[in-house]
Amino acid sequence: MSSAYDLHTHSTASDGTLSPRALVRRAVAVGVQVLALTDHDTTEGIAEAAAEAKDTGLTLIPGIELSVTWNAQVVHIVGLGIDPENPELQNGLRALREFRAWRAEEIGRRLEKAGISGAFEGARERSNGELISRTHFARFLFDAGHAPDTRKVFKRFLTQGKPGHVAGCWADLSDAVAWIIAAGGQAVIAHPARYRMTRTKLRRLIGEFVEVGGNVLEVVSGSHSKDENFTMARHAREFDLLGSIGSDYHGPESQWIDVGRISPLPDGVAPVWQNWPTAA
Ligand code: AMP
Ligand code: MN
Ligand code: MN
Ligand code: MN
Repeated sequence: MSSAYDLHTHSTASDGTLSPRALVRRAVAVGVQVLALTDHDTTEGIAEAAAEAKDTGLTLIPGIELSVTWNAQVVHIVGLGIDPENPELQNGLRALREFRAWRAEEIGRRLEKAGISGAFEGARERSNGELISRTHFARFLFDAGHAPDTRKVFKRFLTQGKPGHVAGCWADLSDAVAWIIAAGGQAVIAHPARYRMTRTKLRRLIGEFVEVGGNVLEVVSGSHSKDENFTMARHAREFDLLGSIGSDYHGPESQWIDVGRISPLPDGVAPVWQNWPTAA
């Protein structure tokens, strides 16, 4: 049984493998009623997804997943219900993509030095040509036989201390939240259990997030264990945050994750959609 809500998904506009149109079709097919497209640092896929959703009964929530550097660590902030045309948001996105483009070249140079040639080209070919993610490098490195699966590719090449790692210089937490709010959206801390923070550190992140105007925690994520969903539900209740749920779907290649295949929001957490006109 699919969840009626899936508020975190990717398309080929960033590092997903389904076009926005195909993503919406799949969501409709599995019974998702409210879908947010939340590509990394771009709103390019939203128009196509919204056009496809029209007349299907599925409500498409325009979203974003912003890359943020907080305390020398990368944290993702999802925005739900944003106006993709908002100039403040778009200015922020432009700066993020500029860094991303430079970083892709830098990853390529570093891998070259480590004896792996053609990585930048390989990643670019696997992207839409406009937004290059580490995921595209991972797909190239996997195809070239450098590791048995993409998980291991990340571990061996693309994370801290590894040859293809470039330290991030993404958005400030306060700026990211401000852009989302300026664009009329709700800011969400994405997959909070993925950061492997201590409880104290995570609570500090949530505290600062609330201080700058954020009020939603992605309690249920396709990248969380069941146990982690419940831990995050407790944090949401303690901080009086709304709860969001999302698969973080990137395409049919992953066996474990599908659109709409997510647990319900645990009891006692108010859903982020409680005041939306799209109740499903
Ligand atoms: P980027 O924003 O370009 O640094 O890429 C981050 C993306 O890489 C995430 O959104 C995930 O889709 C993917 N990713 C990060 N870590 C892993 C991992 N260990 N295994 C598979 N994919 C990963
Ligand atoms: Mn991704
Ligand atoms: Mn993420
Ligand atoms: Mn994501």
